[in-house]
Amino acid sequence: MTDKYTQLVSRGLGKDVAKRLGLPQPVVLRRHQPGAPLVTGPVLVSGDSAGADDLATTMLGWGLDVRRNALPKEKLGAIVLVLDAVQHPEDLSKPVLTAGASLRDLAPNGRVITISRTPQSAGNPASAAARQGIDGLLRSLAKELRAGATANGILLDEHLDEHLATTSPSALGALRFFLSGRSAYVDGQFLTVRSSLGSLPNDADKPLAGKVAVVTGAARGIGAAIARTLHRDGAKVVVVDIPAAGEHLAAVANEVRGTALQLDISREDAGHRIIEHAVERHGRLDIVVHNAGITRDRLLANMDEGRWKSVIAVNIAAQLRINEALLASGHFKDSPRIVSVASTSGIAGNRGQTNYGASKGGVIGMVRSTAALMEPFGGTINAVAPGFIETEMTAKMPFAIREAARRLNSLKQGGQPQDVAEAIAFLASDASGGISGEVLRVCGQQLVGA
Ligand code: NAD
Repeated sequence: MTDKYTQLVSRGLGKDVAKRLGLPQPVVLRRHQPGAPLVTGPVLVSGDSAGADDLATTMLGWGLDVRRNALPKEKLGAIVLVLDAVQHPEDLSKPVLTAGASLRDLAPNGRVITISRTPQSAGNPASAAARQGIDGLLRSLAKELRAGATANGILLDEHLDEHLATTSPSALGALRFFLSGRSAYVDGQFLTVRSSLGSLPNDADKPLAGKVAVVTGAARGIGAAIARTLHRDGAKVVVVDIPAAGEHLAAVANEVRGTALQLDISREDAGHRIIEHAVERHGRLDIVVHNAGITRDRLLANMDEGRWKSVIAVNIAAQLRINEALLASGHFKDSPRIVSVASTSGIAGNRGQTNYGASKGGVIGMVRSTAALMEPFGGTINAVAPGFIETEMTAKMPFAIREAARRLNSLKQGGQPQDVAEAIAFLASDASGGISGEVLRVCGQQLVGA
């Protein structure tokens, strides 16, 4: 549920009062519903490269109302700013200012999406400067947008695949994710496409049809939302949690018409048990979502060995051990997907969370390093780093701290478990086959920390 303040100030008298008093003005975000249109309104494809022309043609083929030039006063659902051919920072002015002139016409919950190339694959300093400049531009623009609109970027990395184009499968997959309500709480972020692998689904509402997915820590909170979302998208889901959470786990399994596996993921044989259950009960294993996680907060000065060790054991050591079993298994070789849940605490740090920060930073390091091990059989591994998400855990925070944490992001509200689940579902799908070793934040562009 959207928090009460957001409900109050997003319409009518509450909206007027909040505006007059200069209070934060969050709006109810557009979230994905099966059958919902990808975007609400015409899409302006801005930029004059061949890549922009190709993309506009592809989007027309999706049945979108595509414009190559803005029409006066027409409300736009999205602006796609194609900057794949810029060679020098001076090349940015014309396309960026042209797109900027249309920003006032962006509808509430609209989207701005840039498509450009990674600075690391630039051939000279001027090109690297132009490409890196897009990073600063996009992150600043995301902070300027209002009414639930977001700005995100897609980067093409030519390092490994020089044929990457604006219409490569995962560039299109990322574009569809960012345009849709699936990315409601992703703001000011980039996704890098590294290869031409991947394919768009035949049925956009069932992108995981035929897949078998395992979700750890699925008895409640974000894990249960992931299980529901993967099921909605067509996967057969195995939900995993500790035996003490057995009753809730069974309820989630029933709801998603999947199966339950009671298992402490920090057990030595956890990987083996997961593979065995998936293959025996469902005949295959395609997706593993490492969601189970714990917090045992204390300032480092007061930290005891038990708190430190248990957080490392569950949040990262268990994932490393399970991944080893997955990589060694003949049952996990058909373009498999691993998606791990990290945290913005592992990126920006958080007071009282040195153990948790170490474990979640660890998840990010693990994902980046494991990507190369998944590559030989077309597999990918990525992480999602949530910011403030409305769960039982965050509901227990003291009111003032919770209210501050909830509002200190560009969308001025907390995210929903579904928002994390949507990003995971995308990274678990065939449409993300060219994206690996990435960390996608689902944090509404948190304003504190890195
Ligand atoms: P939660 O505590 O509500 O749920 C975690 C689940 O994991 C529980 O059902 C728990 O029983 C299970 N679990 C714990 N240890 C386990 C083990 N050893 N084996 C199997 N299952 C185990 O937490 P949540 O808020 O839903 O968080 C889910 C994930 O998202 C965690 O990794 C957490 O660190 C991360 N995260 C949450 C937030 C947030 O704002 N809630 C923010 C950033 C990251």
